[in-house]
Amino acid sequence: MLEESYDVKKAWMKTCDILKKQICLETFDHWFQPIVPVNIDDKNIVLGVSDDFFASWFRDNYEDILSEALKKAVGYDLAINFELGYYPEEIETAEEIEESSSESSAANRTETERSAPEPTIPNCLSRHTFGNFVVGEENRYAYTAAITAAQSPGGVYNPLYIYGGTGLGKTHLLQAVAYEVLQKNPRAVVEYITCETFLNNYVDSLRMKKHAEFRNHIRGLDVLLVDDVHQLANKTQLQEEFFNTFNSLYNSNKQIILTSDKQPCEIQGLEDRLVSRFEWGITTEITTPEIETRLAILRMKQEEHLIKLDDEVLFFIASRISSSIRRLEGALLRLVAFSSAMSNCKITIPKAEELLNKLLEEEANNKKVSIENIQKTVADHFDLRVHDILGNKRPKNIAEPRMIAMYLARQVTDFSLPEIGMAFGGRNHATVIHAVKKVKADCEKNENMKRTVSLLKRQVQGG
Ligand code: ADP
Ligand code: MG
Repeated sequence: MLEESYDVKKAWMKTCDILKKQICLETFDHWFQPIVPVNIDDKNIVLGVSDDFFASWFRDNYEDILSEALKKAVGYDLAINFELGYYPEEIETAEEIEESSSESSAANRTETERSAPEPTIPNCLSRHTFGNFVVGEENRYAYTAAITAAQSPGGVYNPLYIYGGTGLGKTHLLQAVAYEVLQKNPRAVVEYITCETFLNNYVDSLRMKKHAEFRNHIRGLDVLLVDDVHQLANKTQLQEEFFNTFNSLYNSNKQIILTSDKQPCEIQGLEDRLVSRFEWGITTEITTPEIETRLAILRMKQEEHLIKLDDEVLFFIASRISSSIRRLEGALLRLVAFSSAMSNCKITIPKAEELLNKLLEEEANNKKVSIENIQKTVADHFDLRVHDILGNKRPKNIAEPRMIAMYLARQVTDFSLPEIGMAFGGRNHATVIHAVKKVKADCEKNENMKRTVSLLKRQVQGG
């Protein structure tokens, strides 16, 4: 049955290579790295893990992913069996972790006291400060809320929930809060943590029977900043823990800030009681930046580099890359790196076009699919057919979705008004303008409309 004779180590290595492309590194390190491959035959693979707890958590959460990867690696289905009692070379205990992190932060503290006044905070990038954050219409409210929460934690902006697509500055803002809080009050106990790390720390605490310490640590915080809470979805036990943590901090007026790629009510598999708590304070969205913000970000970012690009090149990048700030930064970096590698050769627009070819193509493709995609997404949402959206029927239940679709086409694509009109069954550009104005005005008056439009916007942008 075996075409090649696999020994278990080879099969495991191949499986790990596949997994690394599919899951985030942190999850891999935590859940797959410690596994010891023991044995394999035509039907089974035996994997060594530390204890019962690890095995059962693994089965509940990662068995499907592993089965699939194993199948890809060896070419046939394998049953997964665990053997207990295998410990990875060295597991740091929670105590050791705490000791070493307090040692290193003590070392960092003396170091920074001498050199710069900024505190160093575990898992936070020192450039993620409010000072380095460019404020535009798309993120102004999130920025104001975050800075207010940082300056008076536990006040009205509690909890603060910031959501939006990837690469738009959520992590940056969250970490900026950590710095700001510590700048104002160096004795404050602040923790920035990703939801993934929260999960791993929680599970470790159960494994090592140190749950009480984990709880006490979290509950002793003045400010808890949790990144990417959409990852709580479908993790029932973790949600229970999170719920208790939330209540305990909230009831003692401690500041909680959360980020996510969706509004609380859109996260499928998130318990209602958490949805309602996440919505207790302020919920605010960061949307994709308009050209002015994109240009301002590029201008600021290029200050970090010795090589300066001409303004027209910056404008070129800003006008062609609109989906995320991370991609914008990537483009700038590529041009700067090229110029520096070629003894500061001057970057012209054609050169930029050539160097960014792949990135620009991806952006253009995003846009190309999007008018049809928008029509389909909107039609699906309102239980209509695309045909209805394109047609001439005027009842409100069709006319309104049609206008929303035109509005979105205008917002998220670079098509001109006449092009959009054409794509909507040959309408003229005045109809599109009317739709855009009407939807915009409706969003200002009607919270439900605003939510629907922003949900659809994220859907069409693949967020
Ligand atoms: P998200 O968490 O929303 O995916 P990040 O916070 O990781 O996004 O931001 C991606 C990159 O873009 C980071 O390098 C960040 O510093 C930068 N960035 C995002 N928004 C801004 C902004 N408004 N001003 C300056 N840099 C920004
Ligand atoms: Mg992030």
